[in-house]
Parts: sequence; structure tokens; C-alpha cells
Amino acid sequence: MKHNFGAGPCILPKEVFQEASQAVLDFDNTGLSILEISHRSKEFEAVVIETERLVRELLNVPHGYSVLFLQGGASQQFAMVPMNILPEGAKAAYLDTGVWASKAAKEAKKVGQVEVVASSSDRNYCYVPKGYEIPSDAAYFHFTSNNTIYGTEVFETPKASIPIVVDMSSDILSRNINVADYDLIYAGAQKNMGPAGVTLVIIKDDLFGKSGRTLPTIFGYEAHAKAGSMYNTPPVFSIYVSMLNLRWLKAKGGIAVIEQENIVKARTLYDEIERNPYFRGTADVADRSRMNVTFVMDTPELEAEFLALAKERNLIGIKGHRSVGGFRASIYNALSIGSINALVDAMQEFEEGKK
Ligand SMILES: *Cc1c(COP(=O)(O)O)cnc(C)c1O
Repeated sequence: MKHNFGAGPCILPKEVFQEASQAVLDFDNTGLSILEISHRSKEFEAVVIETERLVRELLNVPHGYSVLFLQGGASQQFAMVPMNILPEGAKAAYLDTGVWASKAAKEAKKVGQVEVVASSSDRNYCYVPKGYEIPSDAAYFHFTSNNTIYGTEVFETPKASIPIVVDMSSDILSRNINVADYDLIYAGAQKNMGPAGVTLVIIKDDLFGKSGRTLPTIFGYEAHAKAGSMYNTPPVFSIYVSMLNLRWLKAKGGIAVIEQENIVKARTLYDEIERNPYFRGTADVADRSRMNVTFVMDTPELEAEFLALAKERNLIGIKGHRSVGGFRASIYNALSIGSINALVDAMQEFEEGKK
């Protein structure tokens, strides 16, 4: 058995893979594959409706918000957000906590003005800035709740008098959030919700048309909302597999249960990193992510040695992103405590081998 610590696309529950593969052959006893059915069929319509219902239920989405399933990944949202809610001549405020956050700001700059309210680039994004001011005259404030590459996470939602937009690609559905604290939430599915190809957007309806810009229809949130995410052919299979994964999460007991598991998983791994003299965490303790655990060793030689041992122990995808180096264990919802223990065992075995 492989333990998949990949950052995204990433692990999903085995049951989900099994059901999805069955549906590729025969979807819901229709005699047709999920890959060939019409997106306008009543069977697929039921899938979209259930997927939306599960998102609303699991995240407790309040009234007045639309739940959309779009394409183009989180990267398309970097552009769609300002196109839809940044009026001509107005500015947007961005928090710079890493590559994804700065890419989001860069795209917004192509649409209008951007004020970066704070940045943690001075220490290679190993922490989340605090105590910054959010300008009340900006059209919105954007931040990234989990910094997938650096292993930092924002647990406390910033408070602002302006709309708050968050990129939750890598921690959506991993912990309890209060959706009403945000005006727009987006997440590429491939880290915690499903396979690549679908992007979740939860948007407060009063943001529709906010920028006053004339947009190509496909880039406007309202058209997608009005059409129930069926303005054009949606990513049928990705939505279907997301639905299976959301069902799995609900059957487990929902967000409250998975959050507890995620806390235990992260603590188990961070405890070993702190205890084991060969490893060192890279993120400031107060801002450590529960989804992406980043750590290094003293020399490239030691790192190569541990990577080889990890490979032997079927620990896959733990090489760190090139901008941080070392290791990154992505420990999303579907990764079991058993896989965490396998990694911890390998770290202890490495230490023993040096005695
Ligand atoms: C992976 C990731 C992205 C990029 O997502 P795409 O769907 O590939 O565009 C953006 N933001 C965060 C926080 C990510 O982890």
C-alpha cells in the first residue's frame, strides 16, 4: 500500500475511487458510463443537486449565498474575482502569504489597483502577518487561508468592514468555518474536495454585478448561478467524484469529526518533527498548517538519504516544493492516521539507523 502525501491532486478515500470506477462502467444502473451521459439528463441533474446540497449542509452555508461548480481552477478565480467585484478606478486589498496569494494579487493588478496590506516574503513566507490594517475604502480584501507550499494556515478570519474573499483551495472542508464571515470563498477541488477539474465557489449573492463591468458571460458569476452551474457543459466526472467524497465526509460525521482527526494527525507529525533531532519544521509554530506539514534536515545529503528510505517505505509525494526545499507532507482529509504513523515510523527508523 502506498501512502500518498502529494499536495494536489491528492489522495481521496479508497471507497470513492471504487464507486467512481464502477460508475465509469455503469452509472447508477443506467447502462451508460458517467463519462458519456448527458449533463442535461435527470440522472446528472440529481448529481449536481446533491453535490450542492452536501456542500451547503457540511459547511452550513447560510441563505443568500450561491454555491457554484466552475472550471479553470483556483487560478481562474484569481482573475474572476477582480473582474466581478472590483469596479473601474477602485482598489483591492491583498494579503501576501506566498506564491498563490501573490499570483492572485498579480492577476488582480491586471484588472485594477491592488494594495498589498502585508507580506511575509521577508522570511520566505514561514509565517502569517498579523496586526495589519485593512483599508476600508478598498472594494474587497483577499487572503489565502492555507499556504500549501509553505505550510502555514490562517485560523482566525480577519475582520473587515469590506467584503472578504478567501482562497480556501487547500483547507476547505478540513475544519469548521463560519461561511457568513466571508463574502466569497473559492477552492480548486483537487486538494480536499474531489479530483482536479472543478472549482467550488461560494458567493454572497449581493456581489453579483458589483464591478459594473461588462464581462464575457462565462466569466460572470451571475450567469453560472442563474444556470445552476449548467451555463455550459460542467465537468461532469469531477462533480460526480466530488459528490462521492462529500457523501463519504458526511457519513464519517461531517466537518466536526474530520477536524478532530486532522488535529490529531497534524499533532502526531509535528510532535515527531520536534522530538526527532534530524528534522526541523519550517513554519512558525503559531501558524503551522494542519494540511501541509513542511520540514527540513540539516544537509542535502541527509535529505536524500531520508527520501530514499521514505520511498522504500512507500511514502509518496513528500519532497518539498522547490521554493522551500526539504519535505512537505500533505495530510488532507482522506489521508489516514495510519499513513501518518508510517511516516513517523520511518523518521524514527532513520534516527535509530544513525546511532
Ligand atoms: C493549488 C492551489 C492553487 C492553484 O489551483 P489551480 O486549481 O491549479 O489553479 C491556488 N491556491 C492555493 C491555495 C492552492 O493550494
